[in-house]
Amino acid sequence: MPKAKTEVDYENYRIEVQPELAGISHDSQVAALVGIKKGIERHVDNAGPVTIHWDTVERCAYCKMETSIGYSPTGEPCCCDEAQQEWVQMGNTLT
Ligand SMILES: [Zn+2]
Repeated sequence: MPKAKTEVDYENYRIEVQPELAGISHDSQVAALVGIKKGIERHVDNAGPVTIHWDTVERCAYCKMETSIGYSPTGEPCCCDEAQQEWVQMGNTLT
């Protein structure tokens, strides 16, 4: 559907740096990111605050399936027997 004339403002200019750190532990990855951050802050002109971020993916501790797939919205696991047994031991019933 056509819309009324719009315009675009540009804001929050920033640069993202994706390190090549696959295959090492979380703690090692964070340590490497801190090193990169310090390097940018020390050597790059006009760089403002450098911040470190990462995403998280919650997984079943037993079968490693993502809980967004393997768990119901109420928290009931449907991914594996081990998670369902723990759910019942917590006082819940399987639906
Ligand atoms: Zn599971």
